[in-house]
Amino acid sequence: MKKDVIVLNCGSSSVKFAIINAETGEAGLSGMAESLGNQDASLSYKIDGKKNTLALPEKAGHTEALNAIQSVIAQTGVVPIAIGHRVVHGGEKFKQAALVDETVLAAIEEYASMAPLHNMANLKGITTAQKAYPNLPHVAVFDTSFFQTIPKKAFVYALPMALYKEHGIRRYGFHGTSHKFILDSTAAQLNKSVEDTSIISAHLGNGCSVSAIEKGQAVDTSLGFTPLEGLVMGTRCGDLDPSLPGTLQRKLGKTAEEINDLLNKQSGLLGISELSNDCRTLEEAALNGHEGALLAIEIFCYRLAKYISGYMIAVPTLDAIVFTGGIGENSSLIRETTMGYFKHFGVAIDEQRNLDARFGNAGEISAPSSSTKVLVVPTNEEWVIAAQAAQFA
Ligand code: AMP
Repeated sequence: MKKDVIVLNCGSSSVKFAIINAETGEAGLSGMAESLGNQDASLSYKIDGKKNTLALPEKAGHTEALNAIQSVIAQTGVVPIAIGHRVVHGGEKFKQAALVDETVLAAIEEYASMAPLHNMANLKGITTAQKAYPNLPHVAVFDTSFFQTIPKKAFVYALPMALYKEHGIRRYGFHGTSHKFILDSTAAQLNKSVEDTSIISAHLGNGCSVSAIEKGQAVDTSLGFTPLEGLVMGTRCGDLDPSLPGTLQRKLGKTAEEINDLLNKQSGLLGISELSNDCRTLEEAALNGHEGALLAIEIFCYRLAKYISGYMIAVPTLDAIVFTGGIGENSSLIRETTMGYFKHFGVAIDEQRNLDARFGNAGEISAPSSSTKVLVVPTNEEWVIAAQAAQFA
């Protein structure tokens, strides 16, 4: 039997969807409904490599989008066995994927206080899809689950303990499905069991995170209570002096919400470069000597190298440092600059291998003499979601 699973990722104004074969990871169909709630709501999708675009009714919302997606799926003739829903926040309750029932829905809503934009949109996606596909198992796959093995020393903030105990203020970590995929994929490449594989994985896309994984278990990660902590990202600032938001509020006469927006949407690569959040644009501009782009790339790589080196103490049996995500899989410049800081650790990359590992080519980029392997591994979060959902079919 073919194990086709519908994978849904609902955002506040978008729905990403795909049909994934849970055994092979192949995507027969993938697409996205965008600008939901606006005049120009639309749906674009790819079936077997062919692109199509549909206009949705004006101001179409999640329900209209999912109805349109359902008819696109029906045209493929595929008979899905389950629906896997990406859910951003699963708090401490969900250590793995869960079959959606009333209790699970209530918990997703409860955790919306910690990820308001994401969880409420995820919830909306689940309840709408339940109506469209009432007879299929709906499975919630959480971004946070993979990090539930992280020990207290890594997840408790140095704040009054009551804030953790009474309000759940702690590091949760995000991008869990990607780091899990990278772990499994690296283990297979190294011919080791997952339980015996130790890596530091750097997921570098618009959002960025590094995870320390010792013998198959996450032991630390750079994203925190929200996906704002840690590395420099496309538009997010990452680590900051915690007194800054208050200072900025006073100095700029802005509200807490406006400062939150500044830190999430106007900072990172975009904020430093004053040009773009897109790494490709910055690399091109840097070649032409754009000072902001040069500085943004320099800071991005320095912060990343500091995190990776810090995690070397958390992963004593390190097998490999792994790059993934749009930047990690494609930017030889970011990888070269970052790994340049590791020469005195005996870690070195091979210039040609690094240049070759782009645009879908992956593999080992370390030099034969390197004390630790450095790999590029393309991520596939949808496959993890599909595989976990298929277990409930
Ligand atoms: P993601 O969120 O994983 O889709 O990654 C998006 C990021 O990957 C953006 O900053 C892109 O500029 C970056 N990216 C994609 N392709 C390349 C490339 N060929 N070189 C450098 N960065 C790239």
